[in-house]
Formats: sequence, structure tokens, C-alpha cells
Amino acid sequence: MQIIKANLIYTKRFGELTVMDKGYVGIENGAVVFVSDLVPKAYQDVIVTDYGNQLLIPGFCDLHTHAPQFENIGLGMNLKLLPWLEQLTFPTEAKYADSDYAKKMYRQVIRNVLRMGTTRVVFFSTVHTQSAQILIDLMEEVGLCGFVGKVNMDDNCAQSIRENTQVSIDETRTFYEKNKDNIGVKPIITPRFVPSCTRPLLKGLGELVVDYDAPIQSHINENIEEIEWVAQLHPEADSYADVYDRFGLFTNRTLMAHCVHMTPEETQLMAKNGVMAVHCPHSNSNLSSGIMPLKQLINQGVKAGLGTDVSGGNALSIAQTMVLAMQLSRLRYQQNPKEGYLSFEEAFYLATKGGGSFFGKVGSFEPGYMFDALVIDDSNLGVDSAKDSAERLRRFVYAGDDRNIVKRYINGKRIEV
Ligand SMILES: [Zn+2]
Repeated sequence: MQIIKANLIYTKRFGELTVMDKGYVGIENGAVVFVSDLVPKAYQDVIVTDYGNQLLIPGFCDLHTHAPQFENIGLGMNLKLLPWLEQLTFPTEAKYADSDYAKKMYRQVIRNVLRMGTTRVVFFSTVHTQSAQILIDLMEEVGLCGFVGKVNMDDNCAQSIRENTQVSIDETRTFYEKNKDNIGVKPIITPRFVPSCTRPLLKGLGELVVDYDAPIQSHINENIEEIEWVAQLHPEADSYADVYDRFGLFTNRTLMAHCVHMTPEETQLMAKNGVMAVHCPHSNSNLSSGIMPLKQLINQGVKAGLGTDVSGGNALSIAQTMVLAMQLSRLRYQQNPKEGYLSFEEAFYLATKGGGSFFGKVGSFEPGYMFDALVIDDSNLGVDSAKDSAERLRRFVYAGDDRNIVKRYINGKRIEV
């Protein structure tokens, strides 16, 4: 048992903050046992770790990012999605056939993800099974939790990273088998997006999903040219979403990044199937993709979370992602006042408990939740004693950065970066 005392802020429900100044969290076997303004009688003898006036918040959840693209942040921002993939992304990912190179680069990505306060992450790696395994092993080594996908691509990409269809399916099965019982970092089925996968590949991946009840991640409706291309490739399908659904890849364990240009039918299908939409506002801005109708999707019952989508996105920070999500939502609100806009409390929910739901009981300090947390020292942010904890959290998210994150916990364990 360990007990931590600090000014606690977390969220139990979309749109609400729970604040407990000078509160105590009790943690056993990595999970929260109690949260209270007093230490319960049974635990009076336990030594308390007291973080004084600092804030304690749940760790951030990044539901969509590409580990091999970390080295491309800031590059290719004058391109739109399809030429950006051809000219920048695919040549970079080809380099990860070299295991030593993958190790060197992935170490840097992991350190930076942790530094930004992300405690759970869902990564794309590359088509190389070995590179995906290296990413899992390095994450396990330092204690970063989440999912890693070996990317599947057997069409419409450079020869150097185009897979043979059967090899792609077989390697994914082997990779899944080897890692499915991992505790910290689990495998996830990862067709890159519809255009890069033939029908036999999508079918094979759908069969793996059934065999293992596996989670899935991919991209959808990011860019107009991409959507038109999918319609040409799959004239039999009603929509982009329908292509995934026909192959059994649109389930309540699916993450779909972007969802910028959605038809009403696709939104309904996402809500009905329980597919989670991942909002990646930096990427959508940088690649001129558009503004995701986030509030509209949420209002219609679609689950949602946040993603950094490096390197379409230029920021690995979920705090910065929250800010841009709120800003884009306000811009969209000008034309769509009925939808409302994303409040701070709602954005904080998406960044913690909402996104955390993909990993199990993650993203809150409610009893039973895994204790992933950040200790925030905001003393350099001009915070005077008059500001309450909720205001201090806003100041940190809008004006702070990784230097304000002074301690990180994942599954109750301190993580060093
Ligand atoms: Zn992406």
C-alpha cells in the first residue's frame, strides 16, 4: 500500500471536474483503493508521500501516433495527405527494416512521449514485425503502457514497404500470438488505411480479429482525395466506414483516427458498433484536412478520445492537443452553433478517462482504476494563492509544458525519464 497526498483533480463524467484539495489516494497492486480527504483508519500506519501544494492529475492517454514518424516532426507540412505519405512517410518507414536503427529511434520516441505526460499510448510501428517487437520490448523496459500495431500494407505504397498478402497476415498472427498475454503493452491489428490494403488482406485481418477478439486501429475520412480514392477502390461499399465494417474491422474495440468528413450513416454506424473516434487536431490542421465535427459525433453517441498523430501532428503533448481541440471546436462552432463547443472539462475527460477507457480502467482516481498520474509543479506559471486548483489545471494545460511535470506514475510505479 502507498498513499499520496496532493491537490487531486480528475474527472468522473464528461464535462465535470472532481477537485479534492489536500486529498489522499491509496494505491495497492497498481490500482486506486481509496480517494479521500482523510486517511482511513485501517491505513493510519502507512507513510504518506506528501506533494504539498502540487497538483495530482491522471496521466494522459494518446490514442493515435506513429512511432517511426517522430523523426519527421515539422517536415512536409506543405503537402496534403497522399503526397505526404509518398514523399515523406513511406521512405522514412522503410528505414525501420534495420533493427539497430529502430532501437535507436524508438528509445527517443518513448522518452519524449513519457516526458510529455503520456502514460498510455497506442502506436503504429511499421510493416516490419521486428520493428514492432522492438517497440513493445523497449516500452516494457521503461514501463510505458499501451498498444503497438505491426502495420499491414500490401497495395498502393512504395515497393520497399509493400508486403506479400499472405506473409502480412501470417506475420501479424505470429506477432499477435507472441504478445497477446503481455501485461503492459499489447498488440493491436493495424491495417494502415483502406487504400494500402487489398481485399484478401482486409479479410485475413478480420479473421484474426475474430480469432483473438483483437483490438483494431486505422484511419478514416481524413481527406477528400483519400475518400474519393476509397470510393473508386470499393464501389461495392456504401461508404469508407462500410468497407471496414464488411471485413469485421469496425467493432467496439476499434480506434479510427480523424473522422473529419463523415456522412450521417457513417456516424450512426460508429455509434451503433461502439467504434471510438480519435481526434488529431494538429495533424488535421497541418495537412489541411479539415476540422473534425467532434461535438457532433459525441452528441450522436460516438465514443471519442485524443491523438497526437505524429508526424502529421507536430506535438507529442496531449495537453497541447486538448488546447487545439478546444480552439478548433470554437472555430467550427461559429458555423454550427447548435453543436456547442468543447469545454475544458470535456477536453480533460477525453484526454484522461475517455481515452483511458480503451485500455481498461484507466484515466481516473476512482477506486479500481489503475493509478497512472502526473505531479504538476506550476510555481513558475504565475500562480498565486488566490487561484483554485481547477484554475491552476487550466493554466498548466494552456501555458505550461513538460517542465511542469515533475513526477510520473504508471500502474502505481514511479517512472523516470
Ligand atoms: Zn495516423
